[in-house]
Amino acid sequence: MTTPSAILIIGSMAFDDLELPSGNARNVVGGSATYASFAASCFAPVRTVAVVGDDFPEETLGAMRGRGIAVEGVERVPGKTFRWAGRYDVDLIHRTTLDTQLNVFASFAPKLPEAYRDSPFVLLGNIHPALQLDVLEQVRSPRFVLADTMNFWIDGEPKAVAAMLRRIDTLVVNDEEARLLSGKYNIRRAAKEILSRGPRRLIIKRGEHGALLFDEDGVFAAPGFPLEDVIDPTGAGDAFAGGLIGYLAGQPEITPLALRRGMLHATATASFCVEAVGTQRIATVTRADITARLSEIRALYEFGASTM
Ligand code: AMP
Repeated sequence: MTTPSAILIIGSMAFDDLELPSGNARNVVGGSATYASFAASCFAPVRTVAVVGDDFPEETLGAMRGRGIAVEGVERVPGKTFRWAGRYDVDLIHRTTLDTQLNVFASFAPKLPEAYRDSPFVLLGNIHPALQLDVLEQVRSPRFVLADTMNFWIDGEPKAVAAMLRRIDTLVVNDEEARLLSGKYNIRRAAKEILSRGPRRLIIKRGEHGALLFDEDGVFAAPGFPLEDVIDPTGAGDAFAGGLIGYLAGQPEITPLALRRGMLHATATASFCVEAVGTQRIATVTRADITARLSEIRALYEFGASTM
């Protein structure tokens, strides 16, 4: 087995106010970097870059350190932590952003700790695209760069999103974001359009319907894992990205096959995230838990294809 390479993760660290069908939850610790770092730490050493205000709980940083996540790149500055509020529909798939407050992120100019600059794997988690690029420029020669974004940035910062797309290997977005970014409704046409703008590969997440990978070998579909109890979908996308890059960081080469296996590991990792409110479950999930869920996922499409 290959020794896993280090992964640099930039993204938000946040307080979330969630309106869920089961009730409201306020001041829940979240953020794209928080979810993705916990997820990736099941597979490889992680180095997180973010900024938090003086209101952010020290226990979360302690829990991250406890999972082998380096947090020297998480700056604490006077002021308020990033805040996001969202409302979920009863189907727990569709959601509406009610509020986004950048707070300390509005003036964040990260300077990567020297030890982070040789990171071979980079996850540009969901945050301002200019900040994603700024961090990427400080990494010496990354082997693999995965990026995520969302409608807030696609609508608000289209030029910076376009510049970011030209610098990455793989983009991961959901179907709504893929449509917004490409201006095309049909998913295959949307994928073709996005791939013409820079990234070598594209992953489109489709909630409970799983995720599609578009690459040089064609299209691959990873199934969604049907859970009986979905409590809070927040962070599932970030956990997916963290699980994917985590798996790849342990592979000798990034081949189409490794990507396909990575898609299944990502699905398995994200399925834990939604089992509890906030980061509660993703912060404790283990590689063994993920391996066990992978065999349940494989069983979903075991249909004796070789004898058909
Ligand atoms: P996900 O459910 O995977 O899309 O990620 C949800 C997390 O993203 C929440 O914990 C939010 O704090 C964070 N988030 C929401 N909007 C933004 C944004 N515009 N930029 C960065 N992070 C965000």
